[in-house]
Amino acid sequence: MLKIGTVKWKGRCGKHQGYDPEQDGEGGIRGGCGRCRLLLDIFQHHTRLVRAMREFGTSDERQKPSRRKTPEEFQTMLFDMAD
Ligand SMILES: [Zn+2]
Repeated sequence: MLKIGTVKWKGRCGKHQGYDPEQDGEGGIRGGCGRCRLLLDIFQHHTRLVRAMREFGTSDERQKPSRRKTPEEFQTMLFDMAD
């Protein structure tokens, strides 16, 4: 069994405050900045984590296959986790 608590996290590079890993990706990292690289790593790992959790399914889905969450409901859950 695996339990993960709710994580609220925000990060911004002090030198490149406009850098957005989701929008700018690897090509947006200026001068090989380590802080921006970490933001990109965190974003990519989070994306993989969310995808893996979605693939695994929610506990509701596993216990009651007849009551599956709609993609919209699941999306709302993820936003609740993130914000
Ligand atoms: Zn930076």
